[in-house]
Formats: sequence, structure tokens, C-alpha cells
Amino acid sequence: RLYNEVQELKGNIRVYCRIRPFLEGQNKTETSIEYTGENGELVIANPLKQGKDTHRFFKFNKVFGPTSTQEEVFLDTRPLIRSILDGYNVCIFAYGQTGSGKTYTMSGPSTNSEEDWGVNYRALNDLFHLTQSSENTVMYEVGVQMVEIYNEQVRDLLSHDVPDASMHCVKATEDVLELMNIGLTNRAVGATALNEKSSRSHSVLSVHVRGVDVKTDSTLRGSLHLVDLAGSERVDRSEVTGDRLKEAQHINKSLSALGDVIFALAHKNPHVPYRNSKLTQVLQNSLGGQAKTLMFVQINPDEDSYAETVSTLKFAERVS
Ligand code: ADP
Ligand code: MG
Repeated sequence: RLYNEVQELKGNIRVYCRIRPFLEGQNKTETSIEYTGENGELVIANPLKQGKDTHRFFKFNKVFGPTSTQEEVFLDTRPLIRSILDGYNVCIFAYGQTGSGKTYTMSGPSTNSEEDWGVNYRALNDLFHLTQSSENTVMYEVGVQMVEIYNEQVRDLLSHDVPDASMHCVKATEDVLELMNIGLTNRAVGATALNEKSSRSHSVLSVHVRGVDVKTDSTLRGSLHLVDLAGSERVDRSEVTGDRLKEAQHINKSLSALGDVIFALAHKNPHVPYRNSKLTQVLQNSLGGQAKTLMFVQINPDEDSYAETVSTLKFAERVS
């Protein structure tokens, strides 16, 4: 665990890389990822180049290979999540091109099997176990919000026509499952038949915990934001127009604004540019200061994704 401890000292921003496996039915299985080490190293080879300068090296706090399980990924995330009970604010992001496994990591596939649960269900389940324990001298209240940000507009996924994101008090994992189903259904309702909108909007699940210590009568507040970001793939400006171009520009703007904020925090810059996008505005109070940030950088193994993968890895390199 020494390595992790060393990384802990480096500040409040962590970056984990996760490589998804080839999927069943995917007939091409050439990969550009050559090596994923125990110590967070990743080597990627340019499939179009030969000879010198073909390999790029990246280093993360951790790399999860294609065989890693949802449980393993969660176990390495759990300490961070539990710290919200000590009053910390935590943001967890999934970044990567569409199809790289962002939703799989954050929510899991829609199989409803507990083994497949992603970080968000596991996190809430874990928090309930901790907060409902009868040994506690702290009484906890847990509230949940869920919004999506599409074209720089925030939409509440849990109720209609409210000016701010509605807060829902939850008492057990089942309540959360129910709310998340409502949220996911509302998200799908807004999607056009032509192309799935969910890959072009950010979804933010926020968990707010308030703990009152009955012995000392002191109150602690912590929050957890679980963010499934819009796909980071670049679109060819010569090929898209109208709404699609506008969407792409909004996504671009908000992802680079997020990168700029995390970069500024990582480098302890005095000015942190939160105002440049809705996403960073929504998360402003939970990024920076004592807050902790974890970015899951999701990548596809196949060599056709090489260019996108390198661009994803460069984004991660900049913020880590
Ligand atoms: P994204 O949200 O980035 O667009 P998804 O999470 O929808 O990507 O993943 C794309 C496909 O790959 C889905 O069918 C998903 O179930 C599958 N997938 C992603 N990551 C994994 C993984 N680690 N193990 C197995 N299947 C995965
Ligand atoms: Mg997705």
C-alpha cells in the first residue's frame, strides 16, 4: 500500500485509468495498449508508426486492466467515498470517448445484478451501512439530487419544473435505486430517437450527508458528486452542422473548462476559473479547498481508438 500512501501525499486529485475489455461480438481485437503495470504505468503504441518514437508512456495513481471487476474498482474508491462522513466534499468523474465504459464504471450495465453495480450504487449502499449502524453516536441524514447538463442547461432528473435541483431524502439503498431509475427514465425521455443524447450530456448524481453528533451536538456536512461526463470524442467540424455542432461546442467548452479548473487546483493557482461552464459552476463548492477529486479515465483497447485514446490520456496527464 506504500505506493498509494505516497500518492495520497501529493494532494487531493487522483487519476485512475480503466481499460475496458473487448466486447463480445467485437471482431477486431488488435490493441494499441501494450502494457498496463501494477504501478500505474501504461504504454500505448501507435499502430500507424514503425521504428522510433512509436510508444507513449503515461503514469496514473492506478491502472485497472480489462479483467478488473466492479468490486475491485470500488474498493480502491471506497476510502475516498467514506471520507464524506468526516465532512469532506468528494467529486468522482468518468471521462472518455463514447463507448469507453464511463457509464459502466459509474452505474454499471443495466443488468440489475449486484455484482455488476457500478461505483454509484456501491457507494450509496456502503454509506447506508455505515450511517445506519446502531453503534453510531452520530445521526445521519442523506439527501440525493440528480441533474443532467445539456447544452449548458441544467435539468433536474428527479422532478419537473423546479428552479433548483430537488433534494430527496433517502433512508435505504432501495430508495436510491428507485430514484435512480426515475432519473434514468427521465434522461431517456429527453433523448431523440436519432442519436442517444445521454452520451452528449453530463449527468451528476449528488449525495449530501449531514451528521449530528448526539454527544457533542456538533454537525458535519459532506457531499459526494458522481459525474458521468459527456463523450470526449472530437467531432469533425466539416461534417457536422446545426444542433449537432452546437452540442459538440458545448461539450468541448465544458470539458476544457473542467480540465482548466482541475489543472488550476492541482497547481495551486490562485485563480480557479469556475465560471467558464455550467458543469464547473454546479460543482464549484465541491471542487477545490479541502475537496477531493477522482477522475476515472476510461479507454477503449482497440487500435482504431488510438487517436481518441491518446487525446484522453493527454487530458488526464494535464490534470494529474
Ligand atoms: P460510455 O458510457 O463511455 O459510452 P459504456 O459504459 O456504455 O460506455 O460502455 C460501452 C459498452 O461496453 C457497454 O456495452 C458496456 O456494458 C461495455 N463495458 C464497458 N466497460 C466494461 C467492462 N469493464 N467490462 C465489461 N463490459 C464493459
Ligand atoms: Mg454512457
